[in-house]
Amino acid sequence: MYLNEIIQEVFHEVDSLEAKGQVASYIPELKKVEPEKFGVYLSTIDNTGFGIGNCYETFSIQSIAKVLSLSLAYRILGEKIWERLGVEPSGTAFNSLIQLEVENGIPRNPFINAGALVISDILLSHLEHPKEDFLAFIRSLSNNRKIDYSSRIATSEKQVGYRNVALCNLIKSFGNIENEPADVLNFYFNLCSLEVNCQELSGLFLFLANDGCTLSGSRVLSQSQSKRVKALMQTCGFYDESGEFSFKVGLPGKSGVGGGIVAIHPKHYVIAVWSPRLNSKGNSYKGMKFLEEFTTKSQLSIF
Ligand code: GLU
Repeated sequence: MYLNEIIQEVFHEVDSLEAKGQVASYIPELKKVEPEKFGVYLSTIDNTGFGIGNCYETFSIQSIAKVLSLSLAYRILGEKIWERLGVEPSGTAFNSLIQLEVENGIPRNPFINAGALVISDILLSHLEHPKEDFLAFIRSLSNNRKIDYSSRIATSEKQVGYRNVALCNLIKSFGNIENEPADVLNFYFNLCSLEVNCQELSGLFLFLANDGCTLSGSRVLSQSQSKRVKALMQTCGFYDESGEFSFKVGLPGKSGVGGGIVAIHPKHYVIAVWSPRLNSKGNSYKGMKFLEEFTTKSQLSIF
C-alpha cells in the first residue's frame, strides 16, 4: 500500500476516536485553539508530499523548536556544546527544577526546558542579532520566508512563565547561563512561539532525514551531528513519555504542547501531525495514536 493511502486510512480511523485529553491551558493564548483540529503532512526527501485534514493551518510549534535551536547551537559550538548540558533522558517533567539543583545547573538534555534555556543562552552569546538570525536560519532550512514568531503567544507565555524564570535563574546561579536571564527568557519564549502548519513543519525537518543537508544541498549539520540530534529525539523527544513513543512508534520525533509532533524516518521522510488535545504527559493524544498506527501499517520504523 502507498504511504498516502495508509495516511488516509489511519487518519479517518483516528479522527473517529473519542475526543480524549485537554488543550494546553497554562499558556493563556494556547487555550484558544480549537481542540478538534487534526492535520497530517508527510514530506519525502525526494521532494514529494501528501497532506490531509487541517494540514495547512498554522499552530504553535512550542517545544518542537528546541530541536532547531539545538541544531544551530551545535553547528556553532560543535562538540564543546556538551560541556554545558547532557544527553540523558531526564525521567522528570519538562519543566522540573529538582534535578537541576542536584546536578549543579547542568541540564540533562537539550529538550527539557532547562536544556533549551542553556541552548538559548549559547545562541544569544554567538549570534549578532539573535532573534532575527535564528528566524533567518529557520527560514533557510526549507526556503520558506513565511515562517514567523507570534508576538501574541510569546507575550502570553512571558506573562505566566514563572517556572521558566525560576529555571533560568537557578541555572544562572550555577554559572551555566552567561547572559541576563531576562534576555535568555525573551529569546526562549520567542522561539517557542514560532507558527507553522504541518506541511511547513515536515519541510523544516527534512535536513535531518537527509543526513544534515537541506534538499537544496546546503549542509546544516555534519552527518554525525545529524545522527546525534536524531538520537536525542529518540531518547528525549517526548517528555516523560519518550520510551513509550519509541516503543509504539519506533521513530525519532519531537512533540510540543501546541499539539504538534514531528517524526523522522532517516533517508526517507518526515511526518508532521497536529491535534491540540494532549494526553496526561503533554503529548498530542491523536498524534501519538496516528503515528503508532501509521508505522505499524506501513511497517516502516527504524527498528
Ligand atoms: N514554551 C513552553 C514552555 O516552556 C514549551 C513547552 C513544550 O512544548 O514542551 O513551557
